[in-house]
Amino acid sequence: MKPLETLIRPNVRRLKPYSSARDEYKGATASVFLDANENPYNDPVNRYPDPLQTVLKERLAPVKHVHPEQIFLGNGSDEAIDLLFRAFCEPRTDNVVAIDPTYGMYRVCADVNDVEYRSVLLDDNFRFRADDLLAAADERTKLIFLCSPNNPTGNDLERKEVYTLLDRFDGLVVVDEAYIDFSDLPSLATELDQRPNLIVLQTFSKAWGCAAIRLGMAFASPDIIAVMNKIKYPYNVNRLTQEHALEMLQRHTDVLQWINRLKEERSRLSEALARLSCVEHVYPTDANFILVRVTDAPAIYAYLVERGIIVRSRHTVALCGNCLRITVGTREENEAVLTALRDSGF
Ligand code: PMP
Repeated sequence: MKPLETLIRPNVRRLKPYSSARDEYKGATASVFLDANENPYNDPVNRYPDPLQTVLKERLAPVKHVHPEQIFLGNGSDEAIDLLFRAFCEPRTDNVVAIDPTYGMYRVCADVNDVEYRSVLLDDNFRFRADDLLAAADERTKLIFLCSPNNPTGNDLERKEVYTLLDRFDGLVVVDEAYIDFSDLPSLATELDQRPNLIVLQTFSKAWGCAAIRLGMAFASPDIIAVMNKIKYPYNVNRLTQEHALEMLQRHTDVLQWINRLKEERSRLSEALARLSCVEHVYPTDANFILVRVTDAPAIYAYLVERGIIVRSRHTVALCGNCLRITVGTREENEAVLTALRDSGF
């Protein structure tokens, strides 16, 4: 890996970050707070939240088997994705490389930040080769984006290739693990100590059942996390979100039960879908959704909408012609989509 200093944008390296009232005073003993122009009434939401979410990171660290200094928390993992562009990619000069198809926000963030986005097509089984991504990269490539399990294809990316990429790429490798809790593979986050160029993204929006609270996680070396903290908005994770996440950590066993139930439903739904006449192929999945190639995706999508059932058409996405992406729901929801498809006449 190149020295981190040379990967950071020069303006970010030079930047003196905003220092908030809560950054400047951190002690616990004071009782009169007249430093942040807050309203003294309406406790507790009158006070600014902890800008670095210290308690939440301390409780999260053992669950994720990382150190608190290896954690960045943001307003969804989308915030972390955007911050990585802003921290490392010089507009109109640097570029990033990503697999294709994959999660759409990497490209959107590249476009917003005016950074060249180079995509490399997966093979017909949605696998990637490290060599192909390395061939697309050059000395101005700062980030390579992987997503495992990948959205919208659902499959885990092959670990051997991920390790090859981490070994051979001299920039940063971002592995988006939004769906890792549904996979049989362990998270890469536990390997951060041996992998200085690895950034792992996770989220409370999927397995943790908390899409509404907007809480995303990035795990990386303390030096990379420090760069992200330097440029984030001061109070990027609000108090209600931090408190709700702390409650969810107490309910970890519930989360594990949801995951097991969803994995069982995933098998059941996959098998039932494969028996339908309108289904041509059910792709294997390690996530909480199933990519399905059907006979006529636009027509079947429209038919399901008529019946009040919304799935995601991926028909126009590379390698996903005539594909629908179906999220695994409750037993009843999955039955509803199966019944509708059975009755459809497609
Ligand atoms: N990464 C992937 C692969 C996703 O599919 C999604 C959401 N669809 C996200 C990140 C965004 O997650 P968050 O809700 O944490 O912003």
